[in-house]
Amino acid sequence: MKIAILPGDGIGTEIMAEAVKVLQALDLKFEMESALVGGAAYDAHGHPLPEGTLALAKAADAILFGAVGDWKYDKLERQFRPEQAILGLRKHLGLFANFRPAICYEQLTQASSLKPELVAGLDILIIRELTGDIYFGQPRGRRIAVDGHFPGADEAFDTMRYSKPEIERIAHVAFQAARRRGKKVTSVDKANVLETFQFWKDVVTEVHAQYPDVQLEHMYVDNAAMQLVKAPKSFDVVVTGNMFGDILSDEAAMLTGSIGMLPSASLDKNNKGLYEPSHGSAPDIAGKGVANPLATILSAAMMLRFSLNQPQAADRIESAVKAVLSAGLRTGDIWSEGTRKVGTREMGDAVVAAITGKTITKS
Ligand code: NAD
Repeated sequence: MKIAILPGDGIGTEIMAEAVKVLQALDLKFEMESALVGGAAYDAHGHPLPEGTLALAKAADAILFGAVGDWKYDKLERQFRPEQAILGLRKHLGLFANFRPAICYEQLTQASSLKPELVAGLDILIIRELTGDIYFGQPRGRRIAVDGHFPGADEAFDTMRYSKPEIERIAHVAFQAARRRGKKVTSVDKANVLETFQFWKDVVTEVHAQYPDVQLEHMYVDNAAMQLVKAPKSFDVVVTGNMFGDILSDEAAMLTGSIGMLPSASLDKNNKGLYEPSHGSAPDIAGKGVANPLATILSAAMMLRFSLNQPQAADRIESAVKAVLSAGLRTGDIWSEGTRKVGTREMGDAVVAAITGKTITKS
């Protein structure tokens, strides 16, 4: 199993060091190779995604990615900005399925803005189509309106479109993911208004015939936004298009309280994937040793489960994270009265100790 390790910028290097330590504690046979990406790669090689880094990512079975970006690169031409590395990797590796779990650990329910009973034990998975929809549809642009409410006025337009194979492949991903979980898929659309999403609904229904063991429900996106805050635990797997997924996955993330806890994955058609925390490079706390490494450590667990076929190793990491939280250890972002504040390294060490069976000191 070959893993490309791309730490990136800011807290990326700090949190990645902890995730690597955790992977090493599993005693599995991995080959891990690191490369620069983002601003660090631009500084060293003049490009955020140098050829060597891309070649490593292509050759690997999975990629563990930290975070990229810093305000100091904001004035660069767009193609040289650190964030372009992520878009480049998605494009070159054909990563079309974005997995964003929203898990609310019992120990952290106080961090959510919702009532504890609504989110305690929450475990949902949002699957967002990543390469199509109105974000990429052509034509798009600005022009003078020839019809509509104001003919002759300046206007802007985008094109929402999905082809049948694009919907089929994300639907298969969702049904297969649901088989490994609660066996329920909610397909989110706007079929009552949009032709594209009536088509989406029809195709998802067709694909569902191959998964009789999985329950399928359809929900309009406005209702889904409402249900996510009203009864989030009623969902298992949510599958939707690029734009609706963009919005709903952030809404779901906030149910759990802290961005420092949330892993994510972007997968290709063979389940090869790029795994990364949902947060960015946090320049405001970079270099201080206080960042929460758990989102990256949990991304490594997702990598083991979805790309490297090691579900038991994934379980071991996830159980270790729960044990560490139960022992009362907290980084600053999830700290509350009565718990013990620890830094990035101490948190990583505690997860390693929980995996290797050592005792964690209670707060
Ligand atoms: P951010 O996610 O980096 O930070 C937002 C806030 O959350 C900050 O206050 C930060 O300190 C805190 N935070 C984030 N991760 C944390 C962690 N693990 N532990 C504790 N606190 C944490 O978002 P931002 O500040 O808007 O962006 C910073 C840079 O990151 C920008 O250059 C942006 O473009 C980039 N970015 C990169 C990615 C990525 O690499 N995938 C994603 C989002 C933003």
